[in-house]
Amino acid sequence: MRYKSTRNSQLRLTASQAIAQGISEEGGLFVPESFPDLTQQLPSLLQMDYKTLAKAIFQLFLTDFTGEEIANCVEQAYAAEKFGGAQPVKVTPLTKQGEPKFLLELWHGPTCAFKDMALQILPYFLTVSLKKAAPGKEAVILTATSGDTGKAALEGFKNVPGTRILVFYPRDGVSPTQKLQMVTQEGTNVGVCAIEGNFDDAQTSVKRIFTNAALKEKLAAHNLLFSSANSINWGRLLPQIVYYFFAYGELIRSGYAQGTPMDVVVPTGNFGNILAAYYAKKMGLPIRKLICASNANKVLADFIRTGTYDRRREFYTTTSPSMDILISSNLERLLYALSGENSERLSRWMGELAENGCYTVEEDVRSQVQELFYGAWCDDQGAAETIRELMEEENYLCDPHTAVAVHVYRQYCKENGGSSVPAIIASTASPFKFSGTVLSALQRPVAAQEEENLQNLAQISGWCAPEQLATLQEKPVRFRQVVSKEQAEAYVLDFLGMGGC
Ligand SMILES: *Cc1c(COP(=O)(O)O)cnc(C)c1O
Repeated sequence: MRYKSTRNSQLRLTASQAIAQGISEEGGLFVPESFPDLTQQLPSLLQMDYKTLAKAIFQLFLTDFTGEEIANCVEQAYAAEKFGGAQPVKVTPLTKQGEPKFLLELWHGPTCAFKDMALQILPYFLTVSLKKAAPGKEAVILTATSGDTGKAALEGFKNVPGTRILVFYPRDGVSPTQKLQMVTQEGTNVGVCAIEGNFDDAQTSVKRIFTNAALKEKLAAHNLLFSSANSINWGRLLPQIVYYFFAYGELIRSGYAQGTPMDVVVPTGNFGNILAAYYAKKMGLPIRKLICASNANKVLADFIRTGTYDRRREFYTTTSPSMDILISSNLERLLYALSGENSERLSRWMGELAENGCYTVEEDVRSQVQELFYGAWCDDQGAAETIRELMEEENYLCDPHTAVAVHVYRQYCKENGGSSVPAIIASTASPFKFSGTVLSALQRPVAAQEEENLQNLAQISGWCAPEQLATLQEKPVRFRQVVSKEQAEAYVLDFLGMGGC
C-alpha cells in the first residue's frame, strides 16, 4: 500500500514515510492509493475482539510494518489497564421508541476524550515509522493546544522511548481542569509551558519554530527531528476506522441480522472522526447515511447543504469547545475522493480557501456529498436540553459534544419520519470532563470546587467519576513556566538540553 498526496497524485510514499512526514511538502494530506474491499471478510472481522480487529485492519494499510511491529503497537496502546480494564470502546444501546440508537462510547481512555483512541497509538506508529524512514533519529513532538489535544498527546507520548513531547498552551485560553490536567502531567520525556496570549498566539509560535531552518539544523546535529501529533497525520486517522467495524459487530451481537444497514452520527470539528466512518463505508461496512453534527460554528452543515464552504463568519465559543473550528482540515481528503482524485481541483479549492476564505464545489461533487451525508447543527441551548432529556427519559448522562450529535440525529429522524435502521452515535467525551456545563444543563448548582461537581454527577448518573479526573487536585504541579511568544524558541532549546549552544 502506497500513499499519495491530495495535491499531488503522482507521489508514492510508504506508510512509514507518510506517518513520519505528517503532511506533504506542497501542503496536501496523505491518502492511501486504494481502499481494500472487506465485504467478503466481514463476517469473520465482526467476531473479533477490539485488538485483534485493529491488527487486521492496520495490516492492510501499514504494509511496510511487520506483523510483529503492528501487534506491539496495538498491545501497548490499547492495554486493558489504560481503558478501564475492558475493550477500549463500549457500545451502549438506548432504546427509546422510534429511535433505535446506540452510543459508541469512545472516552474510556486515559484523558476521558475520544482523542485517546488515536493518540494512544500514534506514538508507537511514529517510532516504528522513524526507525524505517529516518533511522537513528529521535522525535520531538511540538504541539500547541486549545485544551483536549495537548493532554491526550502528553498521555500518549509519555515515557515512549525515542520521543520527547513539548506542549504549549495559551495562558488565557484553557479551562481550569484542562490546565490542571496538563501542568500535573507525569513522565520523563514531557514538557508543558504556558504562552502569554490566546490559542492563536500559541499556534503561531509553534508554527514559527517548526519552520525555523536554523533551529532544524541544530536539532539534526543532535539527531533530533521535529514532528507533529496533529490530527491530519494518517497515523491518527487510521485507528479511528477500527471502531466503526467494531461497533457494527456489537450491533450484530445484539441481534441485528448481518447486512442490516446502519446510520452513523458524529459530532464534528476537524472532520477526522466522520471521515474514518466514510472510509469504513468505502471498505464495505453497510453504513446508510453519515450524519455530520455541528455546533453553532456550522460551517460543515452549511457546506453539506449548499456545496459552498465559507469560513468568513463569526467564530463562536460554545459549550462544545472541541468542535469550535472554522477550518475542517480533513474535509480535503473527502473532496479528493469525491472529485475522482483530482489534485488540480483540490489545489484550486484549497487555494481559494486560503486566499478568499471560501470555495464552491461543482455539481458532480456536491450531489455525492449530499447522497452520502446529512448535515445539521444545534446551539448551546439545544445541547443543554438534550442532556436533560436524555437523563430524564433514558437515564443516560452525556457530555455536550455527544448531546450535539443526539440533537442532530433527532432532527434527521424528524425530517425523515422516524428511522427504520439502527444508528451508531459517536460519544466523544466523558460527561465528567465538562461537569459545569452538564450540571447547568440538568439545572443543578455548579460548585466552585471541581471535586464536588464530580461527586454530584456520580450521584446523578450512578457512575463513578473517572479516577484520573477525581485525583487531579492531589497531584503535584510540575510545570509553572509562562513565556512570551518571543521566548518560546529558547524554551524549546532549554527543554532539549541545548540551551546556550
Ligand atoms: C476533537 C473532538 C471532536 C471533533 O472530532 P473531529 O475528528 O475533529 O471532527 C468532537 N468531540 C470531542 C470531545 C473532541 O475532543
